[in-house]
Amino acid sequence: IIRAVKLNKYFGEKHVLKDIDFEVRKAEVVALIGPSGSGKSTLIRCLNALEQATSGEIYIHGEKLDPFLSVKQLSPIRRELGMVFQNFNLFPHMTVLQNVIEAPLLVRKLSKDQAVALGEQLLTKVGLFEKRDIYPSRLSGGQKQRVAIARALAMQPRALLFDEPTSALDPELVGEVLKVMKDLAYEGSTMVVVTHEMQFARDVSDRVVFMDDGSIVEQGDPEELFRKPQHRRTQAFLERVL
Ligand code: ATP
Ligand code: MG
Repeated sequence: IIRAVKLNKYFGEKHVLKDIDFEVRKAEVVALIGPSGSGKSTLIRCLNALEQATSGEIYIHGEKLDPFLSVKQLSPIRRELGMVFQNFNLFPHMTVLQNVIEAPLLVRKLSKDQAVALGEQLLTKVGLFEKRDIYPSRLSGGQKQRVAIARALAMQPRALLFDEPTSALDPELVGEVLKVMKDLAYEGSTMVVVTHEMQFARDVSDRVVFMDDGSIVEQGDPEELFRKPQHRRTQAFLERVL
């Protein structure tokens, strides 16, 4: 569903992504791990065209992402990949339900009734139906993140990209968000998850990709990679975080 070929990204002189080859198949859950500054966020932002790669190619569902497209031309491609950020990015002046149905109304051109039905169904899925009419400021971080996930799902994307969805949360709220993500994974959603939650990577993902200093150092089956990392840099990282 997603393929990146020889992706490079510079910020000025700084070489942040170095010849990245990366692929995500349908229904696959990929955990992207690595030290701070290794380029994880930049990689998924490039996939979603939030950031422009300096060179290389990206294919979404077989279609090449032309780096010179205008924002307007990009929007149908961006729609294919739902994004969930560390800091939720909910619209503060809209209720929970309005947050979820805004994009389907505007972009997918659903009728109000269709959008509300979809929104209520998704809020039920993330366990927040009863919060539909309140404003985000009155939600806990875990609840906000679950709304953000429902909002991403409302666009019916081909894949979901998560950038450290639980790192801004109090420890006791992490579980409820991981639970929703786990359910999505078991339902066959295609997901790329940048995470520091090694237990989640190990238990839920189909493949773990370890990045360091702008490169993919090692990737593979989670059980194997955690038990027997092949590369010294992977070993050193895992020793620090496990
Ligand atoms: P973290 O775990 O801390 O989120 P990361 O793996 O997501 O780290 P990135 O955010 O992708 O790392 O950053 C990779 C490198 O690119 C870092 O050295 C960072 O300072 C640099 N960088 C990221 N965004 C920009 C930007 N907009 N302008 C300049 N440099 C940037
Ligand atoms: Mg990051």
